Amino acid sequence: MLIDMELCGVCGTDIHLYGGNMKVPFPVIPGHEFVGRIKEIGEGAEKMEAKGKYLAEDDLVAVVPGTNLFCGTCYFCRLLPHKPTYCTNRRVMGVNLSSGEPPHLLGGWAEEVFVDAAHYFVYKIPDGVPAEVAVLTEPMAVSSRAIERAYSPGIQTSIKGFRSDDSVVVQGAGPIGLLAIATARIAGAGRIIAVDMVDDRLEIAEKLGADYVIDMRSFTDRGSRVAEVKRLTSGIGADVVIECAGVPAAFAEGIELTRRGGRFVEVGHYTDPGNVEINPHTICMKDVDILGSWAYPPAQFDTALQFLERGMDDLPMTEIITHKFRVTNAARSIETVRSRKGIKMVITP
Ligand SMILES: [Zn+2]
Ligand SMILES: [Zn+2]
Repeated sequence: MLIDMELCGVCGTDIHLYGGNMKVPFPVIPGHEFVGRIKEIGEGAEKMEAKGKYLAEDDLVAVVPGTNLFCGTCYFCRLLPHKPTYCTNRRVMGVNLSSGEPPHLLGGWAEEVFVDAAHYFVYKIPDGVPAEVAVLTEPMAVSSRAIERAYSPGIQTSIKGFRSDDSVVVQGAGPIGLLAIATARIAGAGRIIAVDMVDDRLEIAEKLGADYVIDMRSFTDRGSRVAEVKRLTSGIGADVVIECAGVPAAFAEGIELTRRGGRFVEVGHYTDPGNVEINPHTICMKDVDILGSWAYPPAQFDTALQFLERGMDDLPMTEIITHKFRVTNAARSIETVRSRKGIKMVITP
């Protein structure tokens, strides 16, 4: 299918790609968070299931950027085929997929995107969800998967894992953190506490469901933030902590913020900003679960769309997008992200 791109997110990965910090098979068209309308659709693609309906021209769709062409030869493809993101040779549109060969149009920062529907998961956007919200599907998949990582189905009596009414701390209120806050809110969390140091972010964190915000400019050291989280959680620490800041120090701090027997999910360090000192005794004594969350299974797009749709009922989901740049001005979007202005940038055709 040929897709008329409507909006495509700018993400941390794009910053690294643009900065030349990633080994990719150039030429690459950036953009892995796109939403657009089907302009032309092939016969085979028309027969593809889209939740009881079939894809058709004019449908607004989001595409899982990771191709389903798994290599089939690596350890993970052979032994963990249900974990497609582990494939050693994984290809992601807009990241490490070359546009050098026909059909060339394999990235979202463009007017048109070519999608071989047989090799991608294509999700129809529910009616009533505008492109400004649907463009958040990919980051929402990352965030909702991070929250779901903390679930423990079936062992409620152990008071382990995320349960409704649990206290949740989200460290870092960038796009991923904000969507984690919204997910926690919609999923029935109790007290949600956001930690950040940028006015715009703290403000929208509250609008998206944070009951409390901890401003790092007022709570300047780790000890004061740990004390504040304890104060807000009956003196025991948070049931669940989601690290979305991508700063090594936040990882060490997040373990401190988690209660004994609680869950700490690391989703912010998609790239590698370095190391941090950890006290193993704390981990042992707290009997804490530390979980990594890397990308998402393709079907997470369905969950993400449901969360976005439900979020629209009472959360200002449209306010997450603060800046739009035309494809021809894409470099400016990168500079704007680097200058830490705004929340989420998107590219328009
Ligand atoms: Zn991304
Ligand atoms: Zn593989």
